[in-house]
Amino acid sequence: MSLSLRRHVTQQVRVGELAIGCGAPVVVQSMTNTDTADITSTTQQVYELAQAGSELVRITVNTSEAAAAVPHIRARLDALGCTVPLIGDFHYNGHRLLTEFPECAQALAKYRINPGNVGRNRAGEDQFAMMIEVARRYDKPVRIGVNWGSLDQELVVRMMDENAKLSQPKEVDEVTREALIVSALDSARRAEELGLAHDRIVLSCKVSEVQDLIAVYRELAQRCDYPLHLGLTEAGMGSKGIVASTAALAVLLQEGIGDTIRVSLTPEPGGDRTREVVVSQEILQTMGLRSFAPMVTACPGCGRTTSTVFQELAQSIQIYLRAQMPVWRERYSGVEEMNVAVMGCIVNGPGESKLANIGISLPGTGEHPAAPVYVDGEKVTTLRGDNIAAEFQQIVDEYVARKYLRK
Ligand code: SF4
Repeated sequence: MSLSLRRHVTQQVRVGELAIGCGAPVVVQSMTNTDTADITSTTQQVYELAQAGSELVRITVNTSEAAAAVPHIRARLDALGCTVPLIGDFHYNGHRLLTEFPECAQALAKYRINPGNVGRNRAGEDQFAMMIEVARRYDKPVRIGVNWGSLDQELVVRMMDENAKLSQPKEVDEVTREALIVSALDSARRAEELGLAHDRIVLSCKVSEVQDLIAVYRELAQRCDYPLHLGLTEAGMGSKGIVASTAALAVLLQEGIGDTIRVSLTPEPGGDRTREVVVSQEILQTMGLRSFAPMVTACPGCGRTTSTVFQELAQSIQIYLRAQMPVWRERYSGVEEMNVAVMGCIVNGPGESKLANIGISLPGTGEHPAAPVYVDGEKVTTLRGDNIAAEFQQIVDEYVARKYLRK
């Protein structure tokens, strides 16, 4: 399924082979939470994020040790056959790290610069200009990434003072939102004055409240043609983080705003970092903007499903389908658009199953213990007994091999 939306018209920025903006598919990105100086664990996490489908992976580059590790991480990923572009996230000392570690500057595919904490240092060096100079030297794009929590305070104070002098001053929130946009646009203009090409700049203005994010990006999209990186910063944990990110991103994506997205979830202790990739993909896929992995349509269950067989099958098939994607992606074409229905009883089971590529309608309470299976709308078999999950999975495997094999 795909949906054409009227897109915010942007320049296109290339990050290695990947295109961002100007009609390119919305790019999914993620960020590691390992110590970048730890080459082994960072390489492993980048690899896992890429395997999950992250098309860009950002890593913190905050110390000399981290900067020194970056080319080794790149080399190890290349050796694994993982070509995902790495983005360096710089704050405070990026100018020094990028100039002192040229192999790091070269290995990264893009630099993220936060104008709120890049300025002149005590020696009077123009740190922003130093970073842009490195980007020009190595022909790297940059994201000028403004963040509510680290907004340029000089700019905010100046704009607040100007606002206070107005006959009808605006609300503080409104001025702060405007300061975010001005910070991003002024920094982009300055980067261009320093010689960075217009089509080497991506912008973001991240905030942590849904309505603020929507307001800021609507305005930003009106005022520039840079590709926009969307994300709700500090979205939070669990369902709150997912719901808040989805609410904000869905509104903007529906309006054609946003060229690359990241869902900033706080993982549960010991939780899987790849969850943020899955959530990004599911936002885009459920909106009909892109397809990444087969989707499972499952009913919520109700009093007609008193056993756990139905929930277990829905969960196991969802996990199985996603786990197959790294291999299926290489071997099969279009399999990411497959829809599988797992339904709990006869009420909606056969109907939904017929609409899916493959569907199974499990027996509800009191029904005859049989599970009809539908393929492309036709009933092909009825499963019975204790081995329904394995048999259904085999039917799915055979269907995929038959229908999606790359010619
Ligand atoms: S399909 Fe059946 S089990 Fe599922 S929610 Fe509807 S009535 Fe309940």
